[in-house]
Amino acid sequence: MPDYGLPLQFGAFITPTNSPPQAAVARAQLVEQLGYDLVTFQDHPYQPTFHDTWTLMTWVAASTERIHIAPNVLNLPLRPPAVVARAAASLDLLSDGRFDLGLGAGGFWDAIESMGGRRLTPGQGVDALSEAIDIIRGIWNAGERGGLRMPGEYYSVAGAKRGPAPAHDIPIWIGALKPRMLRLTGEKADGWLPSLAYLAPGEFAAGNRAIDDAATTVGRDPREIRRLVNIGGSFGRPGGFLNGPPSQWIDELLPYVIEDGVGTFILASDDSSTLQQFAEDVMPGLREAVDSARAASGVTAIVPRRTSAIALRRDGIDYDNIPTSLATTAVEPGDLGFHRVKSTYMRGGSPGLVLRPTTTAQVVDALAFARLQPVPLAIRSAGHGISGRSTNDGGIVIDLGAMNAIEVIDQISRRVRLEPGARWMDVAAALEPHGWALSSGDYGGVGVGGLATAGGIGWLAREHGLTIDHLRAATIVLADGSVVRASEEENPDLFWAIRGAGANFGIVVSFEFEVDEVGTVGWAQLAFDANDTAGFLERWGATVESAPRDVTSFVILAPPRGGQLIATVMAMVDSADPDTIIQRLQPFAEIAPLLDQSVQLATYAQVMANAQGGDHNGQGDPMMRSGLLDHITPEFAESAARFITRGETFFFQIRSVGGAVSDVASDATAYGHRSANFSVAAVGSHPQSFEAGWASLYEHYSGLYLSFETDQHPDRLQDAFPPQTLERLRALKARFDPDNVFRDNFNIRESEAH
Ligand SMILES: Cc1cc2nc3c(=O)[nH]c(=O)nc-3n(C[C@H](O)[C@H](O)[C@H](O)COP(=O)(O)OP(=O)(O)OC[C@H]3O[C@@H](n4cnc5c(N)ncnc54)[C@H](O)[C@@H]3O)c2cc1C
Repeated sequence: MPDYGLPLQFGAFITPTNSPPQAAVARAQLVEQLGYDLVTFQDHPYQPTFHDTWTLMTWVAASTERIHIAPNVLNLPLRPPAVVARAAASLDLLSDGRFDLGLGAGGFWDAIESMGGRRLTPGQGVDALSEAIDIIRGIWNAGERGGLRMPGEYYSVAGAKRGPAPAHDIPIWIGALKPRMLRLTGEKADGWLPSLAYLAPGEFAAGNRAIDDAATTVGRDPREIRRLVNIGGSFGRPGGFLNGPPSQWIDELLPYVIEDGVGTFILASDDSSTLQQFAEDVMPGLREAVDSARAASGVTAIVPRRTSAIALRRDGIDYDNIPTSLATTAVEPGDLGFHRVKSTYMRGGSPGLVLRPTTTAQVVDALAFARLQPVPLAIRSAGHGISGRSTNDGGIVIDLGAMNAIEVIDQISRRVRLEPGARWMDVAAALEPHGWALSSGDYGGVGVGGLATAGGIGWLAREHGLTIDHLRAATIVLADGSVVRASEEENPDLFWAIRGAGANFGIVVSFEFEVDEVGTVGWAQLAFDANDTAGFLERWGATVESAPRDVTSFVILAPPRGGQLIATVMAMVDSADPDTIIQRLQPFAEIAPLLDQSVQLATYAQVMANAQGGDHNGQGDPMMRSGLLDHITPEFAESAARFITRGETFFFQIRSVGGAVSDVASDATAYGHRSANFSVAAVGSHPQSFEAGWASLYEHYSGLYLSFETDQHPDRLQDAFPPQTLERLRALKARFDPDNVFRDNFNIRESEAH
């Protein structure tokens, strides 16, 4: 029987005694200190001298830091599998991926029955275990939609909620001895966990054969199934198998690795000196012996990927040649964590590979690899793209989420360095102690990378301008893999282009901003009766335009409900003085009947702390349109009112820009429509009526903001960029990205063809 080549691991098998209560925990801590990989506990829930194994494992997990923990093996008949699944996932999450699951079909049936469990024959026990494995894996499969339904003979679930997904791909090891259990192990398990004491000579090899045959029959690679074995012995005078000096142990265990493919030895002992001697004198020696034997026979240690995962790979991606620097963090469709990275906040996706670099060098590697694959390429920072498609179908995503550093580089000039994966709420929180803020957007979950390459229309826009107006330098990985710095002095053309059209030019891996002094602000949310919708919009627009620059306001309208159309106005007043705040808000309060109001003193960071963490699970494609507007004229207000009241849009928002945004010359950055006082965005769900309604507003706009636009028609580029800006961008695109590598987000090059 071959050596399966799995990395060698060592575990301990500790009696879960409850007398004294902490004894097993202390042994587990010792085993961790001694360098074991795994600590395991038998599970006999009917045994009054033992702790309940789950409770003990939880305590051990909380009392250790590194070691993996597993039941050896779990008594399934007394534990419903759906509950086992959730308990295992919880423990795995709490212990940061340190829980592994040994499962047994049962035994000791009198005792099990005495505790209310169901007595099963050995054959029934195997079938029950098989059903249980399906249920456990089904619950862990949090990415699958819909409840879990499995009507089994022994275990049934009827629409059980899935999740949580464990922190790591919890392996299921089966304590199998008899042929049907061995077959099940080959068909479904990730490991075989017998006790050597129960196996007659030659039975290990026979067991391996049975498992391998079963695995091969169902199309699995036998190497997916780790061979673990419980062993026992002593370090006294020579006296039989594993009774003698460490050198004898090494000699006797080596053939189990080389000939029988054992990957994990689990020493059953509660004796600290035995545990210590095994750790000090057997583990390193056996590792060395295995390394030399493997070197001599040409076997390399591997961690095989599940056959079922390989089957989910997408065409056109050379999975075997993912750069080494990225291989361990890359996620592909068969990986447990895939559901966490496949979609974005707004969009559903099913990429073939998500690469997750943590350094600029890794971004270069990721890009070089991606360029060789004939599939779509998406760049993701924090995954809140509305226009940007930071996920795709069958392509590669370069996910910069782990590059999220925020650091102050110069206190005097208020210079900060931000990495693309940082979220704006975290940036705001980090700047607050310095009395600083950087105008970003209205939602704290949005990422630096997407927003700061497009514009950044936020709560301080009228006073401090767009986010890109604060950019002083950036580091960019270009399409050819070179890493360049761009600023007014270095690569000024590129610096100009990435402030509004960044997505077309490279991957920005670092941004340097000059931030503003911003202390306590006034933060208002006002609800109005806006049944006179056109009049309301006109008055709100005029009030904004005549307000001092320290006021920035947004308004949201939705179709009428119960005969009433409510408008929500939000405003940030950059002042800590309540009188000034009230003075600034008074004109707003007079534009229509006020239904509700909330005005608070807050910090910018408190206003931005409005997003949760967690995974993105967007579905479908959003439909959003954007327009930049110089003034809210009566004609625009009338058309907008019709659009809203007819229900052609379910979310209609106008943000104030103007002020400091308009101070910047229109040719100073790629974001060029600087005359606008307002940015309008609408979201729809019925394409025909939405498009028709939006078309009635189109003539009023002077441009659009790409971050709020989803229409991929090439004409949108003409709307987004003034003609000379677009011409310059096209020339620069040809220079910096001649092969059109960055093409997934309003492709400047592609539009030329239309
Ligand atoms: C709830 C919500 C609220 C929003 N509020 C505002 C707002 O108040 N003001 C505002 O201006 N915008 C706002 N936006 C729009 C937002 O600015 C853009 O969607 C932005 O692209 C999101 O950035 P991200 O990094 O989270 O997105 P991602 O989805 O990660 O990226 C979006 C696109 O940006 C490009 N990109 C991302 N990272 C990089 C990089 N490092 N280098 C080069 N290109 C890159 C890619 O083309 C990508 O497809 C909001 C979006 C949402 C969903």
